[in-house]
Amino acid sequence: MSVMTFTVLTIFPEMIDAFSGIGMLRRAIEKGLVSCSSVNIRDFAEGKHKVTDDRPYGGGAGMVMKPEPIASAIRSAKATHPSAKTILLSPQGSPFSQHHARQLSTCEGLILVCGRYEGVDERICCDLIDDEISIGDFVLTGGELAAMVIIDTVIRLIPGVLGSTLSASNDSFEKQLLEYPQYTRPPSFEGQAVPEILLSGDHARIERWRLEASLKRTFLKRPELFKEKKLAGPEIDILKKWRIELEAIIQTQS
Ligand code: SAM
Repeated sequence: MSVMTFTVLTIFPEMIDAFSGIGMLRRAIEKGLVSCSSVNIRDFAEGKHKVTDDRPYGGGAGMVMKPEPIASAIRSAKATHPSAKTILLSPQGSPFSQHHARQLSTCEGLILVCGRYEGVDERICCDLIDDEISIGDFVLTGGELAAMVIIDTVIRLIPGVLGSTLSASNDSFEKQLLEYPQYTRPPSFEGQAVPEILLSGDHARIERWRLEASLKRTFLKRPELFKEKKLAGPEIDILKKWRIELEAIIQTQS
């Protein structure tokens, strides 16, 4: 059994250590499916004060992470995990998505480099980084939360991490669709009943209801996902049914 390794390079290793002791990640580590370790970039800094940042050349606000400690930390992590992919967390990276996560879940390991302050010295990106990833068009204080977002998303896609392999394959975005609405007990909550069909035990009808609900949600909430989606036969059948129903409504109005 292969173990996917996550190595997070950071000046705040305690954030990653706390994260790996909780929930799904902790269970995945205990099952021997993944490992997650932090590397303190400060340990690779020179001098008595172990300084990891300095003023930017050319002036300007803030500090920049010095290249030498990060380069040494990356080289050390690569020596331990030679086939791991090295990713710099950056708001300027390629946007992270479920598709991206699925690709990353096939890697043997990820070395995630977290910046702080105004970011890392540009020369780190030339030879030491395979990919730059952003978790969205906003600026965080540091890369640690972004690294945790990536780890959390990727581990769900590693076989054996979730209780059932189906749980991830039905998730939102897996088939360019948002997931259908979910319900649990009680059957009635504050006057809102669970849809009858979900209590029927008729699995074929439930599956079709869920597919239709999923298409409806995607169309209303994220219509742009439809543009990239290749529709399957049963999905086209549902859209045709909607067309007939909509045309009937229009007919009655005109
Ligand atoms: N000055 C940089 C810029 O404008 O592009 C932003 C630096 S940010 C304050 C510090 C660090 O947080 C970055 O080096 C990166 O590691 C991380 N970070 C911030 N926003 C991020 C995002 N949206 N996705 C991934 N990492 C992010």
